[in-house]
Amino acid sequence: MHFQPELYPLPTQTTNDRGTGKINPMLGNTGQTQYDLRFQLFGIPIRIHPLFWLISAFVTWIPNSPQLVLVGILCFLLTVLVHELGHALMFRRYGFRSEIVLYMLGGYATGGRLSTWRSVHVSAAGPVAGFFLAAITIAVRIAVTPAVLEAKPVIDFALANLIFFNIWLGVFNLVPCVPLDGGHIMQALIHRYSPLRATSKVHWVSIVSSGAVALWGFQNGQTFLMILFGLMCAQHVAALNQRNQFH
Ligand SMILES: [Zn+2]
Repeated sequence: MHFQPELYPLPTQTTNDRGTGKINPMLGNTGQTQYDLRFQLFGIPIRIHPLFWLISAFVTWIPNSPQLVLVGILCFLLTVLVHELGHALMFRRYGFRSEIVLYMLGGYATGGRLSTWRSVHVSAAGPVAGFFLAAITIAVRIAVTPAVLEAKPVIDFALANLIFFNIWLGVFNLVPCVPLDGGHIMQALIHRYSPLRATSKVHWVSIVSSGAVALWGFQNGQTFLMILFGLMCAQHVAALNQRNQFH
């Protein structure tokens, strides 16, 4: 089975440094289209933009295997949904409405102010939900007999996909680089505990962490990862330069 292990760290909207929700610029233009798929889960409105399917197919692509690609897309969708639901449900727990929009990069939009630790909880809830699903899937994989897996290799494929996507999506989202979840956690903690020149510190931590991941991607032939983290690194370098010019 071929996987591209690095794909798709998922920047999501949590809260900015002062705990105010706003649309994450990395979500890009999430304009509504007539092809959007809309539904609700646990009372949270969910909208899937058509481009999400395109990215999903890119992530899960296996030549000449439409059935496996379809299974891969469903596993990927489930992974992203569980991650986003983790954020959205935690946000609701703290009394705010939120909406999940799956675009090229997933995310959720909400408006509300949170304290530092509540903000950390909301940011961490996405990766934690994914790790929880990975643990359940591993348990199922252990419980299913080898005979079943041999008779139905597609089940084996789906379980392996779920474990893989959920672990890596969580791990890369925890890199302390804004706008990833780990970045939002780092940002909230710096503003709370080391507020002097906090914005510059956030840029610096983001530069070092995303630069390190980009370098790792480069060394290990993970092109997508290298480009994605390289771009985030470049954005923070530019923002820091601009900031230094005006201060
Ligand atoms: Zn997230």
